[in-house]
Amino acid sequence: MIILDGKKTSNDIKDEIAKEVDVLLLNGGKKPHLAAILVGDNGASETYVSAKVKACNRVGFNSTLIRLPENVSEEQLIEEISVINQNDDIDGLIVQLPLPNHIDEKKIVNTIEVNKDVDGFHPMNIGNMTLNLPSFIPATPAGIIELLDRYSIDTVGKSCVVIGRSHIVGLPISILMSRNNYPGNSTVTLVHSRSKNIKDICRNADILIVALGKANFVTSDMVKEGVCVIDVGITRIPSDTTKSGWRLVGDVDFQQVSKKSSYITPVPGGVGPMTIAMLLKNTLLASKSKI
Ligand code: NAP
Repeated sequence: MIILDGKKTSNDIKDEIAKEVDVLLLNGGKKPHLAAILVGDNGASETYVSAKVKACNRVGFNSTLIRLPENVSEEQLIEEISVINQNDDIDGLIVQLPLPNHIDEKKIVNTIEVNKDVDGFHPMNIGNMTLNLPSFIPATPAGIIELLDRYSIDTVGKSCVVIGRSHIVGLPISILMSRNNYPGNSTVTLVHSRSKNIKDICRNADILIVALGKANFVTSDMVKEGVCVIDVGITRIPSDTTKSGWRLVGDVDFQQVSKKSSYITPVPGGVGPMTIAMLLKNTLLASKSKI
């Protein structure tokens, strides 16, 4: 069994990006610049955004964090986005999700300028990705694809089962895995909460991508020998052994499932760090496409 080490791979990618930034600057270019909008004081969102800002510093990007109060109106948020859309110094913009209930997320995502949508959530980017045209690919699916590529996992003609159909993970990764490209060219089955016989379907998977957000959902009786497992799930569970009183677990029972796997991502240290690395890669792409 080989661990797909997202932490190490993401550090390799960050080193590569930092070198590219050095070359950009040597050639008289400017630092790539990522702006993030954070609404309210959701603890998890706060953690994710500060990790993104820290990652920008690590690779030599500029970053701008705009904090707005929980009760900001939809109009005010749209106005903030419009200002950034017109700011030529800012290459990429992310609005940290989830947003408060009174704000329509779809409307907000649609407001972000397509060429700055480094989260890749805008319908134009999703459409272009689906048609295999140049686009920003959502960071988590892009991170999964990058891991498969860097570990040279054979995906061609393989049976790939994806659990979950969210717009940010399950749906886009199912499209990418079925593309006529490497990594891809798999025969993809997408299952969700209304699917029947999930166990049987999973047992047929050569590659199993799990993104449903239920701790330890995939057990060893659900996988076949030699499966490659990508665990996207992140759930906090109470823990007596950590200072914080909680620890992170994935959607896969790692202890048992890893014994039958050829490759598996750990949680933490698998897909999570890859997501941030791919956001940086999209921002670099956004800055270069303006040159
Ligand atoms: P989501 O929007 O809640 O979607 C969950 C999906 O799982 C839905 O399609 C749902 O089906 C399906 N599902 C729920 N229960 C199921 C069941 N019992 N059997 C089969 N399918 C079931 O979740 P998400 O945003 O994709 O996130 C999923 C997990 O990944 C979460 O733990 C999240 O924290 C984590 N995540 C990690 C990263 C990272 O960087 N590592 C990034 C994003 C998300 P329906 O469509 O029928 O409701």
